[in-house]
Amino acid sequence: YYNDNTIIYLDGEFRKASATTTDLYGQSLHYGYAVFEGIRAYKTANGEVKIFKAKEHYDRLRRSCELIHIPFKWTNEELIEATYKMLEMNNMEEAYIRPLVYCPPNMTLKAASDSHILICAWEWGAYLGEKLLKVMTSSFERPNPKAFKIESKSAGLYVNSILASQEAKEKGYDEGLLLDQQGFVAEGPGANVFFEKDGKVFTPPTGSILPGITRATVIELCHELNIPLEEKLFTIDELKQADAAWFCGTAAEVIGLDSLDGQSFGKPWADSLGKVLQQAYKARVLEKAFERTPQLA
Ligand code: PMP
Repeated sequence: YYNDNTIIYLDGEFRKASATTTDLYGQSLHYGYAVFEGIRAYKTANGEVKIFKAKEHYDRLRRSCELIHIPFKWTNEELIEATYKMLEMNNMEEAYIRPLVYCPPNMTLKAASDSHILICAWEWGAYLGEKLLKVMTSSFERPNPKAFKIESKSAGLYVNSILASQEAKEKGYDEGLLLDQQGFVAEGPGANVFFEKDGKVFTPPTGSILPGITRATVIELCHELNIPLEEKLFTIDELKQADAAWFCGTAAEVIGLDSLDGQSFGKPWADSLGKVLQQAYKARVLEKAFERTPQLA
C-alpha cells in the first residue's frame, strides 16, 4: 500500500507515510471506534484526474462521524483540495483513496472529544476482480440496526465483513452475501447487491445496509436508461430465481455474480441489464458518453 516515497495527508500536513507514527493508546485502535471512506479517482476521457463523487463521500464521512459522536472539524472543500494535492504529490492518476477519522488516546468508553484525519491512497484494481463471482449465503447476519448505527461506515463494523468474507473463502466461494435480522437479503461484506428479473431491477431499501454511493449511481443510471427499478426487501429464494445479479461498490465497481450457493442465474451475464449497468457505470466514472446498444434494449 505504501513505500518509502508515499505521501499521506494527516491533520493538515502532507507527510511521508513511512515516517509517520500513531499512538498505541488510541481509542480507535482499541475499540474500533473510527470511521472511514473508500473513494476512487479516475483518469477521465479528457485526460483529467477526477475524484468520483468526492462531495458525496466526504458528506458520508461527516455523517458517519456524527452518528457515532466523533467530532468532525473539516470542510468538504479543504478535504477535497487536500485529496487532489496528495494524489498529485504521489503522481497518482487512478487510485483508491482512504480517508480515516480516528480518535486520540482514551481508554474509557466516553465519546471522543477530538479526532484526527488521515487521507491516504494506493493503486488498486477492481477489488473483487473482473471474473463473475461465486457467492454463498453467509451464516453471518449484518449487524442489527438496533445494536449499532449501521449507516455509519465505522471501522468496528468491518469485523462482521471480515468474518463473512473469510467464511466464503474457506468454503471455496469468492464472496459471502449477508442477510438482515429478518432474513431478507442485505448486502455483501463490502458491496451492495442488485438483481434483475423479467426486465426489472431490484435492490434492498436502506435500513439494514450501508447506503452505497455506487448503489445510488446505479439507481440514477437505471432512471437515465429507462430501466425499471424498485427498492424492496427480498429473500434468498427470490434472488435465486433472478435472471442476473450483481454487487456494486466503489472498490468493486459493478461486478456480476456467477452463482449463489452453487445455483446460476437465468441469463448469461453478457445479455443482462447488469452488464448494461456495468458498462454505463464505467462510462460515468470516466466521463465518457454511454448509449445503450440496441441489441441489449
Ligand atoms: N456495503 C458495504 C458494507 C460496504 O463496505 C460498501 C463499500 N463502502 C458498500 C456497501 C458500497 O458502498 P459504496 O458504493 O459507497 O462504496
